[in-house]
Amino acid sequence: MKQKFIQGLCAFSVLMASVAYAEAERPNILVILTDDMGYADVGFNGSKDIKTPNLDKLAGEGTVFKSAYNAHPFCGPSRAGIMTGRYPHKFGSQFNLPRSSRSGGLGIPVEETYISKVLQKAGYFTGAIGKWHLGEEPEFHPNNRGFDEFYGFLNGGHDYFPEKFSASYQRQKKQGLDHAIFGYLRPLEHNGKEVEEKEYVTDGLSREAVNFIEKAGEDKNQPFFLYLAYNAPHSPMQAKEEDMAQFPNITDKKRKIYAGMVYAVDRGVKRIVDSLKATGQYDNTLIVFFSDNGGKPTLGANNAPLQGRKGDVLEGGYRTPMFFHWPNHIPAGKTFVHPTSSLDLYPTFANLAKAEIPKDKKLDGKDIFSSLQTGSSPRPGEMIYAVRHRLGFSEAAARRDNWKIIKRGKTWQLFDVDKDPSETNDQAAKHPFMVREMVAEMEAWSWTNIQPKWFHIHQEGVQWREKAMPRYHETFFLE
Ligand code: CA
Repeated sequence: MKQKFIQGLCAFSVLMASVAYAEAERPNILVILTDDMGYADVGFNGSKDIKTPNLDKLAGEGTVFKSAYNAHPFCGPSRAGIMTGRYPHKFGSQFNLPRSSRSGGLGIPVEETYISKVLQKAGYFTGAIGKWHLGEEPEFHPNNRGFDEFYGFLNGGHDYFPEKFSASYQRQKKQGLDHAIFGYLRPLEHNGKEVEEKEYVTDGLSREAVNFIEKAGEDKNQPFFLYLAYNAPHSPMQAKEEDMAQFPNITDKKRKIYAGMVYAVDRGVKRIVDSLKATGQYDNTLIVFFSDNGGKPTLGANNAPLQGRKGDVLEGGYRTPMFFHWPNHIPAGKTFVHPTSSLDLYPTFANLAKAEIPKDKKLDGKDIFSSLQTGSSPRPGEMIYAVRHRLGFSEAAARRDNWKIIKRGKTWQLFDVDKDPSETNDQAAKHPFMVREMVAEMEAWSWTNIQPKWFHIHQEGVQWREKAMPRYHETFFLE
């Protein structure tokens, strides 16, 4: 009997040891997302005037992506892509949520299981900090979509200086405006309860990220997933004086404010890295940094050498600066040139976490982890798509290996975006069969798109109906 008990005990301790070993193998996952950041607005991706020493250090010790794409060239649908691992066009989320109060009561369909839910079910401690923009009603709230912790704001943006936005909010509240008060002025929240944020919002979000990391560090057997979605450098353009003072050589006023906002993020990244080290979690944390879409040059961003801006299917609209960092697991000092998508994060994270993806879950991305090790393309011969509906017509683009087809007006163009990232040398006339083949493949993909479940502004909905959108019969027509 005793013998059996001891045998059982041994088996139990072996089991416990293997559990601990397995846990140690599963990394913490930290996503640092910026908002509307230009391709050339971080040092590691070519910025000559904005300093980002802390991001650059991580990028230099990790792998920098040169062709990382978002699922959409603006905020809401891009984020829906990150969370669901699917093109937002496939579940009717290809527009930002309605601008009306509480996003019109709408949100990303609850049938779409988020990566946070998958990781939470696999035992991860999960947190979302910052901008949400995926629905404000309880069923769409981060706490109901797989996040144990949420600190931030639910709508699409926020003012930065509490002494100003709190005063405006209180004044308007006294006037009885209540539901009509602009979301950018509303108090931030922690797990559904209003809080009084006292710091510049970027600093407040960095502080909360550090708090989360410290809390996560108390139980090393439970890995964490933190989705830190800074709203910087999204408008309103508001920077701290001391951050702008870092850039005496920038004379353009807009660029200087923009630079200050990016610098505040970089300062926050230092605090986060320091806390990962102090809590002994740095070596086992995968850090992924990128922006949700391209920058707006009119607000001081720089997408060089890419053409276009936020909202476009030109490269500048949805190709983003990005890196992966994880000591001894992600190749250090490497550049990854192959086309990758933010949709790749879902399967990559799930597999690293040894998490179970629901059987009926459809995914559009690839697990890119082994491709990063070998430096090979995760999708040779396969396409990455971008569709942006405008008033009365659709912009469309698809990238396959080094080639990209794009239609923004009447005709399809073809660019070798490896050699010609600025999309200046149209080669469609030289390769008509390739264009025809790629357009046909994209048209077949478009059949998976469904009607939008909402529109951001009223006029978009009116135009959609009056102009019989999405007008794919015209979009995929070849002359
Ligand atoms: Ca954005």
